[in-house]
Amino acid sequence: MEERRRLGDAGRNKSMVDQLQRYGIFSSKRVAEVMEKVDRGLFVPDDTPPYIDSPMTIGYNATISAPHMHAMCLHLLQDHLLPGMHALDVGSGTGYLTACFSLMVGPEGRAVGVEHIPELASFSISNIKKSEAASYLEKGSLSIHVGDGRQGWPEFAPYDAIHVGAAAKEIPQQLIDQLKPGGRMVIPVGEIFQDLKVIDKNLDGTISVRNETAVRYVPLTSRDAQLRGR
Ligand code: SAH
Repeated sequence: MEERRRLGDAGRNKSMVDQLQRYGIFSSKRVAEVMEKVDRGLFVPDDTPPYIDSPMTIGYNATISAPHMHAMCLHLLQDHLLPGMHALDVGSGTGYLTACFSLMVGPEGRAVGVEHIPELASFSISNIKKSEAASYLEKGSLSIHVGDGRQGWPEFAPYDAIHVGAAAKEIPQQLIDQLKPGGRMVIPVGEIFQDLKVIDKNLDGTISVRNETAVRYVPLTSRDAQLRGR
């Protein structure tokens, strides 16, 4: 059991990715490739089934998103995750998507995760170290930071891609400011009723917003509010 968890299960991970494609969640070869390389089994707590299409609790009132949500976000962001590009993952949780981003932008790019629960940031680092993304962490093109992700991470801005893994009451202006012209942000917005919004920053700096789908994410909030159970 211990060995299986430590190594994940590449065969079952691939079956999960194949099934998401059959269900029409995404059709991109690059997304399939990265989801096959980054074994989801390495990113969930022990005793949590990694390959079923459901969000799972990871402690601290947080969840790892369901595989179909990860796939959808990767699909929406894929043209902004090309080699050499910069990607920001706000509320990086388990580190799964940050790891996917780092493989897609490659060693010349940069993948930055911001998570406000220090224990989850440490958990994500140990997960990434077991994964295909370990060398990116070691060489520094992937980094995980403890902080309030509503402020983004200015050090590596502007970003071609910003993913927010928790639902904002309103879109944080600092994240819009840190988006590169031509860049795209995917962010769930709302409280009880939430929409996954796709925000494109046009080359003239104006913003276009559309709703992709209705979603249910944990709130993008303060650390205290989250730990109190909001
Ligand atoms: N994409 C992650 C999602 C984890 S759930 C995954 O699939 O693993 C959302 C995460 O956002 C939680 O880990 C939570 O702790 C974090 N979060 C919520 N508000 C935050 C904030 N203001 N700053 C940084 N992280 C935040």
